[in-house]
Amino acid sequence: MSTNDPNGLLLVVSGPSGVGKTTIVHRMQKRLGGRFSVSATTRPRSKEEKDGVDYYFVTRPEFDRMQRGGEFLEWAEVFGRHAYGTPRRPVEQSLERGELIILDIDVQGARQVRQAMPSAFMVFILPPDEDELMRRLQARGRDDQEAIERRFAEAKHEIRQATEVKLYDAFVINDDLERAVEETCRVVTNRWQNISESTSSSQ
Ligand code: ADP
Ligand code: 5GP
Repeated sequence: MSTNDPNGLLLVVSGPSGVGKTTIVHRMQKRLGGRFSVSATTRPRSKEEKDGVDYYFVTRPEFDRMQRGGEFLEWAEVFGRHAYGTPRRPVEQSLERGELIILDIDVQGARQVRQAMPSAFMVFILPPDEDELMRRLQARGRDDQEAIERRFAEAKHEIRQATEVKLYDAFVINDDLERAVEETCRVVTNRWQNISESTSSSQ
């Protein structure tokens, strides 16, 4: 996706663990282009994940140094266990180039981004129902049963939080994957066009 808008589009995608954010974002990128913002985290890397691709896996002292140095656009302790943060510079560079930049971050992070960049577009992905979310957490094959149970409880909390705060511009139910990707692309493209039109009409 490209535009003459010098400000680009900052897209925040949130949703509970296992709902399908990574899958949707990858497919959306294939259609619309854009860049995925790689977060820094103190959480341990799982065997499927690659450093610098899925996350920058850093130690707590490194994370704290980055945070103190103002290197994060937003950061949060997600469910009180591990710290996650969005490196500021790559986001700014993408926006300066007029690109789409996609952040997969939690509700706390989305709140901070809304403060820092009010024009960000924010989408929350919902599961069709709780049983299906549990199935996907298991299908992902990343966590043991205890971690799955914990993520499931946290997911319900996160969904409640997201639907109570007036933060998200769109909610997409990830029932059928292709349908959900289509809908996400549609709402993002609509927003993108609105920005381009308002920029060109003000020139
Ligand atoms: P998240 O990034 O939100 O944690 P993932 O994208 O890793 O979630 O998806 C979790 C699991 O659910 C994966 O095994 C993925 O293939 C599967 N999945 C994603 N979307 C769907 C869908 N619409 N229907 C069935 N399975 C899905
Ligand atoms: P996971 O450990 O399953 O990859 O991610 C756990 C949660 O952390 C997800 O809700 C994900 O959106 C969120 N997350 C990932 N990166 C960031 C980040 O940079 N900032 C914030 N605030 N949340 C993040």
